[in-house]
Amino acid sequence: MAAAVKLAERGIPVTVFESAKQLGGRARGLMHNDMQLDNGQHLLLGCYRETLRLIELVGGNVGQDFLRLPLQLDLHGHFSLRAPRLPAPLHLLSALLNAQGLTWRERLDAIRFMLALRRMDFHLPGDMTVAELLAQHGQDADLTLKLWEPLCIAALNTPVRKASAQVLLNVLRDALNRTRADSDMLLPRVDFTTLFPQRAAAYIEQHGGKVYTSCGAEAITQEGDEIELMTAQGAHIFTHIVCATPPAIAAKLLCAIPALEHTVAQIDSLEHQPIYTVYLRYPPHVRLPHPMLGLHQRYSQWLFDQGQISGQHGLIASVISAEGLHQELPQDELARKVIAELREEFGITDTPEWFKIIAEKRATFCCSPNLQRPSQQTALPNLWLAGDYTAGDYPATLEGAVLSGLRCANQITEERKT
Ligand SMILES: Cc1cc2nc3c(=O)[nH]c(=O)nc-3n(C[C@H](O)[C@H](O)[C@H](O)COP(=O)(O)OP(=O)(O)OC[C@H]3O[C@@H](n4cnc5c(N)ncnc54)[C@H](O)[C@@H]3O)c2cc1C
Repeated sequence: MAAAVKLAERGIPVTVFESAKQLGGRARGLMHNDMQLDNGQHLLLGCYRETLRLIELVGGNVGQDFLRLPLQLDLHGHFSLRAPRLPAPLHLLSALLNAQGLTWRERLDAIRFMLALRRMDFHLPGDMTVAELLAQHGQDADLTLKLWEPLCIAALNTPVRKASAQVLLNVLRDALNRTRADSDMLLPRVDFTTLFPQRAAAYIEQHGGKVYTSCGAEAITQEGDEIELMTAQGAHIFTHIVCATPPAIAAKLLCAIPALEHTVAQIDSLEHQPIYTVYLRYPPHVRLPHPMLGLHQRYSQWLFDQGQISGQHGLIASVISAEGLHQELPQDELARKVIAELREEFGITDTPEWFKIIAEKRATFCCSPNLQRPSQQTALPNLWLAGDYTAGDYPATLEGAVLSGLRCANQITEERKT
């Protein structure tokens, strides 16, 4: 949708084919028992500049559509870090110096580490795992469990022992090192389909394009200088195609084209990581101490109180990112564990009316060191790849997906000029 909006903005007519009934993909709204949920709780950072710009371009209002919180990491009762209103990076250094739940030594180690990363301009001579980088910089196990592991899992959806240190540094560079607002956390007040893709579809149609839902791409074939797309509606000839499906579907669509053998092999070699969201519908009076907070060494990693975020009082989302023991539990047992955690941590004795677990087994690619991600440009001059898994600085995030789409749109626009 980012690619389509950008091309539409430049007056290039686009047609979007979406296989699902609804737009939004992994970041989409859904209804459950008359409550508006998302396909997993999402959070944006202030540094997601292009995503936020596109939301505004298609008619959103970032000030109203999000609850904006200054950087704060709170592991209930164990660790708390809050950034004061100081310019970056002083806000972070001050937050680390005053962090609750760390020894003085751990605080100084964390500050030393951040200063070392700044001196390196957040660039490593060679990639390694986050665990290796933390060990090199003397970050002990307690500091890792309270600060770096939650940050790494939230940003890369990959455990520290498998995660790329360079990609984590790219995120830290953009979120923590430029302006203070870059590290703000933005929690959506509206569902994700409304937030961007629905508005984007209206924008595309107002600019002469078309958006079809329940109409997926079935095959892509090269036809001389043009390229043919087969859908349930028949064959369509286009000058360019941007294939913006999830990676496994892109590999299926492209594997019939011999020139794309290398691209398909790169996609096939990506591993994936899950994200589980446990939604709990409590009575409306139930609330958490903050709109968002973490738990230390529990199944629930982050809790979101939708009452305080979107006005859906009593709706709590528990997010469990990356691989772990939770994947071995049946869903009702996992829900029972999360309910017990809420009782033990916050004294919530009410029983939820219902729970809904959304288990996205392939939520994101596993962001490991030196990953070879396919480029947006393919061996076919008129076929482009967009999506969070394509080459870029970012892990699998909304901003990564948007940047990839914009890159396709920019290059297609350049080509049309020549
Ligand atoms: C539970 C969960 C929580 C997350 N939390 C965050 C977060 O807090 N912050 C963040 O930045 N990122 C988060 N992410 C990651 C983020 O959602 C993704 O990086 C982003 O949505 C990827 O966008 P995409 O366009 O690359 O792919 P997708 O969103 O997967 O879009 C691909 C689209 O292609 C469609 N499609 C599939 N097959 C076909 C076909 N044959 N023809 C046509 N269309 C087809 C799909 O229906 C879908 O709409 C989360 C992801 C999940 C799953």
